[in-house]
Amino acid sequence: MDLSGTGVPTLNQVADLHLHSTASDGILAPADVVRRARDVGLAAMALTDHDTIAGVAEALEEGTRLGVEVIGGCEFSVKAAWGEMHLLGYFLPVGDSELETFLTTAREQRVVRARRMIESLQAWGVDIQMEDVLAEAGNAALGRPHVARALVRRGKVPDVPAAFDEFLGLGRRAYVEKVLPTLQEVADLVHRVGGLVSAAHLREKANRSVLTLLKEEGLDAVEVHHPSHSPDVVKTIDLAAEELGLTRTGGSDWHGDGSADDYGYIGTRSVPLSWLDRLRESRPGLSTPPAEEPSGAS
Ligand code: AMP
Ligand code: ZN
Ligand code: FE
Ligand code: FE
Repeated sequence: MDLSGTGVPTLNQVADLHLHSTASDGILAPADVVRRARDVGLAAMALTDHDTIAGVAEALEEGTRLGVEVIGGCEFSVKAAWGEMHLLGYFLPVGDSELETFLTTAREQRVVRARRMIESLQAWGVDIQMEDVLAEAGNAALGRPHVARALVRRGKVPDVPAAFDEFLGLGRRAYVEKVLPTLQEVADLVHRVGGLVSAAHLREKANRSVLTLLKEEGLDAVEVHHPSHSPDVVKTIDLAAEELGLTRTGGSDWHGDGSADDYGYIGTRSVPLSWLDRLRESRPGLSTPPAEEPSGAS
């Protein structure tokens, strides 16, 4: 049955494990993402905003109200042999000070980077200010989509894809690299707080040897299903996951209707609930507590 009125078939017993909200560069508020998940019949979803878990509490609350299981997640950016890769952290607790400190630093670096993009745009003769970008982002983790939307609003480019094409895409005129942590740093942190990490949208970069190295650095899981993954890529990753003992994840990477990087629709790359169960079971768990001091030690 189509409950959403959008023509998208209602899903059942499936989870979408890669979703964005206004906490980062998504279009919908966290609670609205959960409502949409419910409308298309998802049993579970993970909120995975870039460098923030600020939307998770709201999503959890709405999930409880609507009967959608919400997993607290985050999409981290980390160093890779080819530049930057994205790591999806799952089962992240709200209010852990070490995690929050790490994420606050990452978001501060996003502000510094946005300022550099603005300087670069100005150097190219584009009249745009940091205030224009902040007006788009509000309290969100700042990203290139906010800069792109500001460029559109100021009439500098016709649409967001054009902003990426002309200025913000990898290697384009105003592209600025992020300061990136290593996979190992993020994996260690996520493991300490009881979660695990999955390599997002690796596309053609995924093969057995790359995944072997990533696993040695702490990778627990790999995103098999993503809108950018061709059937061949899905097959390659699925086989490598099997061979290497990596847990599988998948999701739509939906940023909201009308978002320019919209690959499809919420739920279009959903995975069986059994995958979520396996993901939960494969958590490495909390770090072992420090060894007890011998009694009487000063
Ligand atoms: P950032 O983390 O600031 O580098 O921004 C990355 C985000 O920009 C991605 O998660 C997408 O939401 C969006 N994005 C990346 N490439 C494009 C593109 N070519 N067109 C539209 N949006 C894009
Ligand atoms: Zn994004
Ligand atoms: Fe990503
Ligand atoms: Fe994403």
